[in-house]
Amino acid sequence: SDSHFPIPVSPSHVDYSVHYPIFFASDGQVNCSKKIQFADVGCGFGGLLISLSTLFPETLMIGMELRDKVTEYVKERISALRVTNPGQYENVSVVRTNSMKYIPNYFEKGQLTKMFFLFPDPHFKEKNHRRRVISPQLLDEYAYVLGVGGIIYTITDVEELGDWMKSCLENHPMFEPVTEEQLEADPVVKLLSSATEEGQKVARNGGQTFQAVFRRIVPTS
Ligand code: SAM
Repeated sequence: SDSHFPIPVSPSHVDYSVHYPIFFASDGQVNCSKKIQFADVGCGFGGLLISLSTLFPETLMIGMELRDKVTEYVKERISALRVTNPGQYENVSVVRTNSMKYIPNYFEKGQLTKMFFLFPDPHFKEKNHRRRVISPQLLDEYAYVLGVGGIIYTITDVEELGDWMKSCLENHPMFEPVTEEQLEADPVVKLLSSATEEGQKVARNGGQTFQAVFRRIVPTS
């Protein structure tokens, strides 16, 4: 249950020195004003984050994962990479948490520039749709923590879920679709399938994927 993992009371209580020790001193001395900008929600084994870490070496990023053992695995994976590649992978970390409840505890208004929801659990039954990580209600929260111009990336191999995520985003006043041209130019889009463990599995099995990539906008009244 949630009582087994600590929850910061507000974003200013997130201890950056634990996650990014090279950037932040543990004595609480502020030696860096960087904030986390990318969140990989339900990061699983962390493949996307590991790829993003070297692609955006100056950007702080975090994975949010509900399963304890999976979170521990990602932590160890990052520690090992830091040891074998000195100076690299210092900008990436992971936290065990329930993203459906605690996003506002981690991020301030407008703080994030990218959020990832890659191959989320489908929750097929109608009565379980409220458990989906993309929903009209949760999009309000994501719109809050994303800065204007920030991008939300979603992908799935379940067509019905793909349609659902896309329609939730289309119907939300604070998001607009990223154009085909911009998708082509964005190096991150290629990683949605190729860098994630789930995407690699789908590719091995020759499965189809359905993506929806939207930008946070200022709504026109
Ligand atoms: N994104 C990864 C990938 O593409 O390889 C993992 C996909 S996996 C199918 C979905 C992940 O979301 C699981 O690891 C699961 O534990 C995690 N998850 C489900 N609900 C969550 C929640 N409320 N908060 C955080 N993580 C969650």
